[in-house]
Amino acid sequence: MFDTHAHIHDRAFDADRDAMLARARDAGVERIMTIGTDLAASRAAREAAVRYGLDYSIGVHPHEAKDAPENLAAALDELLAEAGPKPPRAIGEIGLDYYYDHSPRDVQRAVMVAQLRFARERKMPVVFHQRDAFDDFRTILHEEAAGGLAGVVHCFTEGPEQARILVEEYGLRLGIGGVLTFKSAASVRDAVVAVGLDHIILETDCPYLAPVPYRGQRNEPAFIAATAGVLAETLGTTRDEVIRRTTATAKALFGA
Ligand SMILES: [Zn+2]
Ligand SMILES: [Zn+2]
Repeated sequence: MFDTHAHIHDRAFDADRDAMLARARDAGVERIMTIGTDLAASRAAREAAVRYGLDYSIGVHPHEAKDAPENLAAALDELLAEAGPKPPRAIGEIGLDYYYDHSPRDVQRAVMVAQLRFARERKMPVVFHQRDAFDDFRTILHEEAAGGLAGVVHCFTEGPEQARILVEEYGLRLGIGGVLTFKSAASVRDAVVAVGLDHIILETDCPYLAPVPYRGQRNEPAFIAATAGVLAETLGTTRDEVIRRTTATAKALFGA
């Protein structure tokens, strides 16, 4: 399995990171991408990736958009230059979050656009975060990436209509995590049925959003097996088939 969205460098794992990664290996997780959320966290993601043999991404999350440097492209280029033989696999997570509104919305939009342009110029895939901002998110995609782009909308929590728009109009993948297993998430299950297995990749978003039966606990990559199981049930297929095809899709997006 490929956990395409984790925050392994997060403080939540400081006490037991080695044991936690051993549990992931034992559970059959072969690949993990640890995701940057601001410039410092992107550097921490790279350090964890080098140390533990992970993939990583660099980018500024909408929560942190208010602290992004004025010349964000130059700062990202600096991160690329520092990376040497271990380049990031994606730009992210970037996007809009109007649920928390930790940064002003106009700043969120500007920071998303700057990073989306950067990713397209560098021909890198994008990891998007979108919460309660679908219309503005779609407008930016329409203006900046009408021809489609390589990327994933991680932690997808909306319904079939939004899923179809992201997949069919923009060629994006849906990152499906623990929310799929929540009793209340019938619309997410309808969405995965609507778009089908070939447009889905698996993620944990750990340490957040643990799937049932671990809900409420600190999440970790080993728990991704529970999400794969529910995805198989939802689509009427086997867990092995889910794992095989989501892994292939993720490798096609982020590199083998
Ligand atoms: Zn996110
Ligand atoms: Zn995340």
